[in-house]
Amino acid sequence: MRILIVGGGITGLAAAHRLRTRLGEDARIIITERSGRLGGKIHTVGFVGRPVEAGAESLLAARPEAMELARDVGLGDDLVHPVGLKPALSLEGRLRDLPAGTMMGLPADPADVAAVAEVKEAGGSQRPLLAPGADMSVGELVRAQLGSEVLDRLVAPMLSGVYAGDVDRLSVRAVMPQLAAALERHSRLTEAVAEVKRPSTGAPVFASIEGGLTRLVTATSACARADVRLGMTVRELRQTPYGWEVVVGPVPDPIRLHADAVILAVPAGPAARLLRGVEPEAAAALSGVGYASVALATFAFDHIDLPETSGFLTPAGGGKTVKAATFSSRKWPHLGKRRSILRVSMGRLGEEALLQHDDETLARTALRELGEHLGRRTPEPVAHRIDRWGGALPQYAPGHPSRMAEAREGLRTHHGIAIAGAAVDGVGIAACIGSGRDAADQIADQLASGSA
Ligand SMILES: Cc1cc2nc3c(=O)[nH]c(=O)nc-3n(C[C@H](O)[C@H](O)[C@H](O)COP(=O)(O)OP(=O)(O)OC[C@H]3O[C@@H](n4cnc5c(N)ncnc54)[C@H](O)[C@@H]3O)c2cc1C
Repeated sequence: MRILIVGGGITGLAAAHRLRTRLGEDARIIITERSGRLGGKIHTVGFVGRPVEAGAESLLAARPEAMELARDVGLGDDLVHPVGLKPALSLEGRLRDLPAGTMMGLPADPADVAAVAEVKEAGGSQRPLLAPGADMSVGELVRAQLGSEVLDRLVAPMLSGVYAGDVDRLSVRAVMPQLAAALERHSRLTEAVAEVKRPSTGAPVFASIEGGLTRLVTATSACARADVRLGMTVRELRQTPYGWEVVVGPVPDPIRLHADAVILAVPAGPAARLLRGVEPEAAAALSGVGYASVALATFAFDHIDLPETSGFLTPAGGGKTVKAATFSSRKWPHLGKRRSILRVSMGRLGEEALLQHDDETLARTALRELGEHLGRRTPEPVAHRIDRWGGALPQYAPGHPSRMAEAREGLRTHHGIAIAGAAVDGVGIAACIGSGRDAADQIADQLASGSA
């Protein structure tokens, strides 16, 4: 049995690991990865002698998938958690406490956020806020139900930290699925939030791995025992009477690989291109997924005065490019105390031109804006690095979950093909791991029943 996984990010690796568990040693699992390394958006680098994340920073510990995978691949003892500091909110040039107890900035009680935003709660209607199967943008929902300040000063900065997106183009069903389900039962947003908001158990919400998240990539790959082919871009995919054929390698001298089944664990653009000749409607649904780009500036300081927070978030506007900063060495004990390491995140949807600036310009912009948010000039860093992530964060427009469900339905008629990853099921690493595992289960079930 030969299964080909296209894309060596965490989704592809989680799929490979699951396939190995399900199918045993006889299965041949091949991962083809375009770049020269595994991990995709997960990339730990050495910086001033510390393992710093050049891409994704943390695992969501409040969901089971990432924690389970880390334990399954032998990293359970190396899981680390941030110290209990909260991020601040930078408003009108000063850092304020981020209101506690909200759900992505949404309060169950307007009084919870009154210190930072005027709440204009809508009332009167007895109708549920969302009809079954319907969807709307986060912006539309929150502006109408709680007013623009709650949207602009709380919800948008929090969502921007994850999606770098435009709240008026982000689907409630995709980014807050449990809330969307509750909206079918409630006529007030605060009541729906109260129903789904999990009471804090005191358990850590985030985690990382001593030595950096790339260790999760390496350990998962080792446990999957896959045949990994780096520097191999899959350019074509077609179904044959015997299974699947993919074309890789240079155009004049193509290499053809054959497999019984294929899992596409790549961003929406390449997935759409590969599926065009297989299932045009699925390809069209995927090609409609937009992407935002971000740049990260990481600094090391011998000494910098920082407030007692883990960083800050800030609303869009005012010509500013910084959307968040993390005081990494304060937040993560495994980064040590010898130097202060800060990570500044820049750029939102539509600000792709930012990535064209050279490193020095981006570093200077980040430092200047950092100083404005902290209310003081920042000292000279002893080191810095810039990481650009062009087209990295998928944007789930209203209707995304149903479009992806239809795409999957269409693909099911072909047998032995599955799609997974951030483009489809959720942007976070935990969601990607779950998505990769589900795709592997679907393929393993089909192979077992002889229908692939
Ligand atoms: C700056 C940044 C910070 C983030 N922070 C966090 C965070 O703190 N916590 C969190 O949970 N999530 C975070 N995320 C999101 C998360 O990292 C990603 O959504 C997730 O890692 C995506 O995994 P994936 O495997 O689906 O896709 P990717 O990581 O994009 O992997 C897909 C792989 O497919 C390869 N590929 C593409 N086309 C082809 C082809 N034709 N043939 C072969 N290979 C191909 C690519 O080279 C890539 O390696 C962050 C993302 C970014 C960009």
